[in-house]
Amino acid sequence: MQSIDQGGEPYYDETDVEEIVSYASTRHVEVIPEINLPGHATASLGQYPELRCTVPDEDPSFWSVCLGAEETYGFIDALLDQLAEQFPSDIVHVGGDEWTFHYSWEDCEVCQERMDAAELKDIQELFVDYLQRVHEILTSHDRRMMVWNEEIDITRSPDLPEDVQVQFWRWTRGRMEENALQQWAEAGNDVVNSYLQGTYIGVQMTEETARRWSPTSWPPVTDDVSQQICGGELPAWNGWGDQSWEDYGVRAMPSGMAIFGDRVWNGDTIDDPERFNRAVQRQVLGPAVPADLDIFEELGSSIFPLHPMRGGELAHLWKSLDGWSVSEAVEQYRYTAEQLSQICQSENTVFSDASAYVDALEWLMESATREQRGVSRRPAPDEMT
Ligand SMILES: [Zn+2]
Repeated sequence: MQSIDQGGEPYYDETDVEEIVSYASTRHVEVIPEINLPGHATASLGQYPELRCTVPDEDPSFWSVCLGAEETYGFIDALLDQLAEQFPSDIVHVGGDEWTFHYSWEDCEVCQERMDAAELKDIQELFVDYLQRVHEILTSHDRRMMVWNEEIDITRSPDLPEDVQVQFWRWTRGRMEENALQQWAEAGNDVVNSYLQGTYIGVQMTEETARRWSPTSWPPVTDDVSQQICGGELPAWNGWGDQSWEDYGVRAMPSGMAIFGDRVWNGDTIDDPERFNRAVQRQVLGPAVPADLDIFEELGSSIFPLHPMRGGELAHLWKSLDGWSVSEAVEQYRYTAEQLSQICQSENTVFSDASAYVDALEWLMESATREQRGVSRRPAPDEMT
C-alpha cells in the first residue's frame, strides 16, 4: 500500500490512495485529506520554486510559501482538483500550523505588495487574508475548509467564515493565557478537540491524561457553546524514520484507540481506573481473557511507554520494583506474554493487533533484564493527579 520513489523514499500514489479510501469506506470511515500550507512546505518548495518568496540578497524561506504570489493560489487550486477527484470527503484540511517556525513574508517584495493592496497591517492579517482566499478556492470545489487553530490569533477576532472547521491542538501561539477552544466555540465555528496534553500519542498522552480528557472537558468549554465541539482526534505522527517511535506507536495504539473511542463516545471523565482498564482489556483482547490476567498490572499500569525524546526513560521503568526481584518480574511478564499469545492464536481477539501487547511484554523482559529494574504495581486512584 505504499510506493517507493527513485530516491528510495516511500510515498502514496493514486492507486494507493484509492485503496485506502475504499478500505476505510467499507468500514464506514471517511478519510479527510490534509495538505499542509503555508508552512511545512519544504517538499513543495523544493519541487516548485515559483512558490517561494522574493527576497533581495538572501535565500527565501525553505519552510513557508509566498502568500503574495498568485502562483501559490494556482498551485492550491490545481492540488484541490486532484484531491476532490480522489477523496469524496466534504472536508479538506489545509493545515495552517507552525508557519511561524520560518517565513519570509516581512522581507518579500511580493507579500508586501499584497499587504499594501489589501490594506493589511501585519503578517497575522496577511495570514488571515491567505486563509480567506483558500476558503474561496475550496468553496469553488464544493469542499469545506478545516484548519489548525494555533497560528490564528482568535483574540483579534479574525474574520473567518463560520463554516470553517477548526482543529484545536494547543492554545493560541504567543497568547498562552487564552483558552482558544472556548473562544472558537463562542465564535460559532465547529471545533475538533485534539489537545496536545490529552490526545497526542507519543508526546503527552498517558492513561491518566487520556481518562481526564474528553472533547469538552479539557480544556473546559462552557455548556452554552459545547455543541460547537464536534469531536476529537487522536493524533499519531509517524514516518520520521525513527524506529523507536514506530515501535512505540505499535505498542500504544491498541489501548490508545480503545481509550480514545470511549472518551469521544461516552464523554464523562473516568473515576475508576481499574474498572476502566479491565474494560479496555476486554475491548482489545475480547471476552476470552482469563479473569486472573491483568495486562495493565504486568505493563506497569500503562501501555503507553514514554517517548525516547523525553530522556529515554520508559514508562514501565519509572517506578521501583516494589518488592519484586527482576527475575520475578521477568517471570511474570513471560507468563502473561504466553497467556496472551494463546489468546491471539485462538482468533478470539477483537483487535487484530493485540499481539502488540505480547511485543510490549517481551520488550519489558529485555528492558528489565538490561536495566535491572521493572514495575509491578499500579498506582491507587488517590495517587493519580
Ligand atoms: Zn512572499
